[in-house]
Amino acid sequence: MYITITTDVLIIGGGSAGTYAAIKAKEKAPELNVLVLEKAHIERSGAIARGMDAVNNAVVPGVATPEKYVEEVTKANDGVLDQETCYVLARQSYPMLSELESWGVKFPKDENGNFIVHHIHPEGRYTVPMDAEDLKKILAREVVKRGVEVLNRHTVTSLLTREGKVTGATALNTRTGEFVVVNAKAVVLTTGAAGRFGLPASGYLTATYEFPGNAGDGYAMAYRAGAELTGLECFQINPLIKDYNGPSCGYVVSPYGGYMANAFGERFTTTGYWSGHLLSKIKEEIDAGRGPVYLKMNHLDEETIRTLENILYVNERPSRGKFNAGRRVDIREHMVELHLSEPTLCSGHSSSGVWVNERAESSVPGLFVAGDVACVPHQYLAGAFVFGGIAGSNAAEWAKEFSWLEPDPGQIEQERDRVFAPLQRKEGIKPALMEYKLRKTVSDYLFPPKTEHRLDIALERFRRFAEEDLPMLYAADFHELGKALEVECILDCAIMAAEASKYRKESRWGFLHLRADYPERDDANWLKHVIIKKNPAAGKMEIYTKPVRVRGR
Ligand SMILES: Cc1cc2nc3c(=O)[nH]c(=O)nc-3n(C[C@H](O)[C@H](O)[C@H](O)COP(=O)(O)OP(=O)(O)OC[C@H]3O[C@@H](n4cnc5c(N)ncnc54)[C@H](O)[C@@H]3O)c2cc1C
Repeated sequence: MYITITTDVLIIGGGSAGTYAAIKAKEKAPELNVLVLEKAHIERSGAIARGMDAVNNAVVPGVATPEKYVEEVTKANDGVLDQETCYVLARQSYPMLSELESWGVKFPKDENGNFIVHHIHPEGRYTVPMDAEDLKKILAREVVKRGVEVLNRHTVTSLLTREGKVTGATALNTRTGEFVVVNAKAVVLTTGAAGRFGLPASGYLTATYEFPGNAGDGYAMAYRAGAELTGLECFQINPLIKDYNGPSCGYVVSPYGGYMANAFGERFTTTGYWSGHLLSKIKEEIDAGRGPVYLKMNHLDEETIRTLENILYVNERPSRGKFNAGRRVDIREHMVELHLSEPTLCSGHSSSGVWVNERAESSVPGLFVAGDVACVPHQYLAGAFVFGGIAGSNAAEWAKEFSWLEPDPGQIEQERDRVFAPLQRKEGIKPALMEYKLRKTVSDYLFPPKTEHRLDIALERFRRFAEEDLPMLYAADFHELGKALEVECILDCAIMAAEASKYRKESRWGFLHLRADYPERDDANWLKHVIIKKNPAAGKMEIYTKPVRVRGR
């Protein structure tokens, strides 16, 4: 038995990109039914759940140009990107800021009433600070105001396809255990990063940098549905506060005079911009015996410190102030110790995602993808909003043109059997145990520097997880069943990341894809995208390359 819902546009994930997609789909075609399925609760789910202090890469007229932004992001991502798509982000980011403001998001302004724009990228200024403790609540309110239907606590488990097109999705209501089949004309996938991927240094499964509900479901579902993915060898690894799963915020403090320093208090980089090259510099300091590295603010005056405390301890992560207090760290006196985060997959800060063009179309007709799960390198919040909007709007156009396709009953039955299998068993391996072992393997063998030998060991372990452990996964209730489904997604992500890392026989993106056995960057052979795709007929993984797209060529 299952519940069937029919809608015009289905949005999977109600985070930054998903809420924007829902708003824009309704604005484009108010007569259409738009449904959001959200694993958690739309008011406080996703990366911005606890507020956000800046839109990282908006192009404000008079301060920067879209052309300059494309030039900078091309450098930041070592040339492997689709410049046309990044250009669209740059062009559409300013109207998005004004729109957010009209909904009640507060942006501090200069004496002339203009947006303040900070400098964190190596050259231009693209970072627009905001006081947005309630950003997610504001977006959720705009979604509901437009008549979008939202079903919280619904974990989407698969994309349904027929005749090569996406026809909807299946979901598990993790509160009631109901299995839901959604028939949709168009689907927008916005499930965020694969945040539960490597194991955090603290060892806690959910003490992740990313929103812990983001377990790479979208990457896995898109792969299983035959979509192309790319950049899976370019991990997201961030400098974080040691033992605290929050960002170091070097980029937040740098406009106020703070910076990263080594153990001797010496500045070792002039940029706070998060890239693989910054990580390489951090590793250099540590390897040279000048670690650990720190965030240094103890040379700043009291007024600046108070401003920073307001941003760091109030706007985004109140627990951060409590953590520092517990450690007896007062930023007036002490430097804050940093370390490197667990690896994750995310296009927002890095570049892994489902392949999309500037219309947010994936390689599977009817499937639009946006936000951290869509491959638009370094897109951050601006990209989630801009491409969320583009995806929603284009999905609505698609839904006006095409009708529903009858779902394949065999596919639904097969998926239902897969979903409920861990609940049918009387005993077995608990999801948390398997997740720990799997993510420990990711951290032990996929964390850079990578080598062919270590990647082969990882792939062999992943094969055994798939063949021996997965069939023994056991869930005692619906909550645990949701966790079991997530473990399977993490495993798919791990296999894809290991295969892509093995395929790219060079080093690129600084520390993010450092191959100890191929230490040089090799533009002659590798200035291109590595694409991973499941061949639906053969059920096997294919890996190949695609050229990069340069604007105007
Ligand atoms: C700690 C941190 C600080 C950041 N700071 C900044 C900053 O200062 N400036 C900036 O511009 N950017 C920043 N970013 C990046 C920015 O927040 C993200 O790029 C952006 O929010 C991503 O939006 P998204 O919609 O792709 O993902 P999310 O907002 O994470 O949304 C994904 C949603 O999908 C749901 N979901 C997942 N799986 C399923 C499933 N199977 N079924 C149903 N729903 C599902 C999740 O519950 C979640 O609600 C930061 C990110 C983090 C983590």
